[in-house]
Amino acid sequence: MKRSFGPSNDKLPHLIHGADYNPEQWRDHPEVWEEDLRLMELAGCNCMTLGMFSWAQLEPAEGEYDFTWLDEIMDKLAARGIYVIFGTPSGARPHWLAEKYPEVLRVGNNRVRNLFGGRHNHCYTSPLYRAKTAELNTILASRYKDHPALIMWHLSNEYGGECHCELCQDAFRGWLKQKYDNSLDRLNKAWWTTFWSHTYSDWSQIESPAPHGERLTHSLNLDWKRFVTDQTVDFMLAEAAPLRVITPDIPITTNLMGTYPGLNYWKFAPHIDVVSWDNYPQWHCDKSETQLGMEVGFVHDLNRSLKGGKPFLLMESTPSMTNWQAVSKLKKPGMHRLSSLQAVAHGSDSVQYFQWRQSRGSSEKFHGAVVSHSGHEHTRVFRDVAELGGSLARLDEVVGTTTPAEVAIIFDWENRWALEDAQGPRNIGLDYVGAVMSHYKSFWNAGISVDILDMHQDLSRYKLVIAPMLYLVYPGVGEMIEAFVKSGGTFVATYWSGIVDENDLCFLGGFPGPLRRVLGLWSEEVDALLDGEHNSVLATAGWATQESYESSVLCDLIHLEGAEALAVYGQDFYEGRPAVTVHPFGQGEAYYLASRIEDAFHSDFYGYLADRLMLAKNAPFRLPEGVTAQRRTDGEKSFLFVMNFTGATQRLMLPEGLRFEDLLNGTTVEAEAELPAFGVAVWGE
Ligand SMILES: [Zn+2]
Repeated sequence: MKRSFGPSNDKLPHLIHGADYNPEQWRDHPEVWEEDLRLMELAGCNCMTLGMFSWAQLEPAEGEYDFTWLDEIMDKLAARGIYVIFGTPSGARPHWLAEKYPEVLRVGNNRVRNLFGGRHNHCYTSPLYRAKTAELNTILASRYKDHPALIMWHLSNEYGGECHCELCQDAFRGWLKQKYDNSLDRLNKAWWTTFWSHTYSDWSQIESPAPHGERLTHSLNLDWKRFVTDQTVDFMLAEAAPLRVITPDIPITTNLMGTYPGLNYWKFAPHIDVVSWDNYPQWHCDKSETQLGMEVGFVHDLNRSLKGGKPFLLMESTPSMTNWQAVSKLKKPGMHRLSSLQAVAHGSDSVQYFQWRQSRGSSEKFHGAVVSHSGHEHTRVFRDVAELGGSLARLDEVVGTTTPAEVAIIFDWENRWALEDAQGPRNIGLDYVGAVMSHYKSFWNAGISVDILDMHQDLSRYKLVIAPMLYLVYPGVGEMIEAFVKSGGTFVATYWSGIVDENDLCFLGGFPGPLRRVLGLWSEEVDALLDGEHNSVLATAGWATQESYESSVLCDLIHLEGAEALAVYGQDFYEGRPAVTVHPFGQGEAYYLASRIEDAFHSDFYGYLADRLMLAKNAPFRLPEGVTAQRRTDGEKSFLFVMNFTGATQRLMLPEGLRFEDLLNGTTVEAEAELPAFGVAVWGE
């Protein structure tokens, strides 16, 4: 059955190729505008993101508006067939606004109000800031609602950070009253405030976490982070409200920031029509391209999963170097094409850049751009971008297609917050994100598609669900996992799981709490290993290619309650005790990895599970190390993206009789194919 989400806006039924464009920085240079338009066509760009950070140009004084420049550039873009994603300008505010209404400026956790400066420097609660934002958005929506270029609203820019002003403190207390049914007693119990005599006797005593105040009441910290997400979403909804009313048919997005720790993006997803994110990997720096390629693949999959497989947009990426790390490396030949098509391979319907043209001054003047300070098209970067534009134009059929996955990995923000805030057994180096990715890596290597979910998503459509370090478990989640395994699913959990409930209160009666029954074991103690210290895991199972695997970080000392051991510890006083177990449960199985075990183990173990569960592999041929394959499909036609993240040419041997159509160059591929260093191919079948 054919299943496609279609393009995000029917006006533009192609993969989007474009950039953040700030013509307002060049109003005194009309010749630059004309040159930009010429170069956009040359680069194969079909869409620009306008408006971001342009508030002072649109409303130079309170209530005085100037849309002349915007009218002109919108019309010029439309005349060239270039569409516009409009970024609402709330990410930074004009001087006059902060000067007249200081409440809009953010207050730090030290309770000091910021001066004007930077961006993202505003209070999400301030009714005044919300009103000013809604006012400007109303005017913009009314003015451009029928403009032929407009295809999408892009709310603000990279929502993030938190404000601790009195308005936010009051809003936090209101949020808590609602959550705890107006019962301070319930809150005190949930936060375990009898500890250190921190019991609240009045709501007014509640303050957000502060370095010079309350910071070790973990449940308070957790609720504060939840509040910050909810308040940011609430601000976003206030921004979106006039756009929804005036332009109900224009889709809305906002640019997310990957695994940014400060906001739970699952709370944003239901309120935006299209997920988009900003991707800035630091290629050729401290990580191998293969490792980084895998990590970026994970985040792309997360963004695709946020709206149930619906294509997302790669809203920002750099065509060249970023400019904020200690050392900024250029992309080696091939890497621009590879990293851009990697996004498409995992479900993006766009390749977009920050930025179109390098600004002449200020903090991002050396950040990569399609058009450099040289101002013309005769550059390596421009040629890379234009060549990619040509490739994207050949992939119209990919638009709207998705990636069915049989494997899900749980990556949960609230779990991360609680886990990283906890004290003991290891306060450093738990590295939740890295630990989750270490499980993902085996599937990326094998070219098996994976969805990335939080703990509240429906698991029933997956064959295999992996939940690394599920420290915090919401009510009902243990039961949901039990039901999943009972009906034939395979579940993998690890050490440091099932420790606390949704209030960060420890489960009583034995860990892993609500996961104990399905895993068939009891965790009595956890040994923390020092940095550089290792234990070993000895496996005798047929799938093990090594007798011994290195383990680190945490070693869980467990008792079997129905599970059976597949591997045991090799050292220390717990030598011989179970380190990997399996528990048949209903029609399925639940596995437990009691320690952080090296990648070679994951590769063997998940290779075994992939065979056992007959997981679909995207490439019907062997993938050399560092080469991965991702697939998009509409249910009838498939698009296989084969990507070489190594700096060497790789040869692929196709089974006899198998033929693909190379969609980028129109040739037929059979028997054998070669991928150059950092090469990528898109094959239709
Ligand atoms: Zn505030």
